[in-house]
Amino acid sequence: MKFEDVIGQEALKSHMQSAIRFGKVSHAYIINGEAGYGKLKLAEAFAKTLLCSRMNPDYDEDQIAFPGLELEAKPTMPDVIKPCEECISCTKADHHNHPDIIYISHEKPKLISVKEIREQIVDTVDILPYESKRKIYIIDHGEFMNEMGQNILLKTIEEPPEYITIIILTNNKDTMLPTILSRCVILNVMPVEDSVIKSYLMREGIVDYQADMAINFAGGNPGKALLIASDPEFQMRRKEVVDVMRDFGIFNSKQISDVASRWESDKENKENYLDLMIAFLRDVLIYKNVEDETRLHFRREISVIRELSEIPSSTISKMIDIVEEALRKLRVGVTPSLTIEMMLYKIKESI
Ligand SMILES: [Zn+2]
Repeated sequence: MKFEDVIGQEALKSHMQSAIRFGKVSHAYIINGEAGYGKLKLAEAFAKTLLCSRMNPDYDEDQIAFPGLELEAKPTMPDVIKPCEECISCTKADHHNHPDIIYISHEKPKLISVKEIREQIVDTVDILPYESKRKIYIIDHGEFMNEMGQNILLKTIEEPPEYITIIILTNNKDTMLPTILSRCVILNVMPVEDSVIKSYLMREGIVDYQADMAINFAGGNPGKALLIASDPEFQMRRKEVVDVMRDFGIFNSKQISDVASRWESDKENKENYLDLMIAFLRDVLIYKNVEDETRLHFRREISVIRELSEIPSSTISKMIDIVEEALRKLRVGVTPSLTIEMMLYKIKESI
């Protein structure tokens, strides 16, 4: 794992690299943010760099021979600290069999038990690193530790042996005890720029219009964007929304009820249909204003967009308002079947 493999998060990477460069590596970190941002990759790149025996091989080894341990930065040191990718330590880190990088495992789903924290961390911290200057514990899904477990861990974080670094990954740092939070360096992942996600998706073989659509729904999360772009069900929902928008004008009440019950029964994704409707209607507005197909998310469905562009802009804006209102209701738990059906009727009336 390399820092370059993580999409975006330049601030976090540079924080980690500077910590190594200036010998200011902390004993405990929390990397916080929803799944899809590459938190584990970041932790692994950090761990590998910390343990590399020939870091930045082009530079004088003496300057960075003891990363993180009482090291004064020297003027000739590089800005970007990176692992050599060749030494035994780097190879082992890549193969997940480095004895000084410990991944905390757990048997029960969604629970890292007190016993596991004790056996894998507390009881082993006093054992010196086997092959390196430092020993790194990676706790993925820190939110799986309950209060008691975190209190057990706290003792280690309060008085850590000089050579250990604990990296806790969590999708919600609010699940961590304040006493843990106050002793960790907290690194929050940040939304990634659309253009950066786009080049990532293109490298992954996603076609142009699909990439744009996925980015629109991913909120700056590259993993989520890739998931959406390669999810066949998302593509099916997208097609369904376009079909409904195309034929909506001639729908009778039975057809409207059918659509409502189909979307409502797709429990996890019903909001997705509404998001897609908004994206589609916005495309119609954009097309009406600039007639530039390249700016559309639904550019593959340009014929339907052209048809709908006959509707006045004020009406389309009103339709968007109706869908947004329904979306708000769904999010606060108003009965979905009713909300979706009412929404469809209101749209029908507005045309
Ligand atoms: Zn190396």
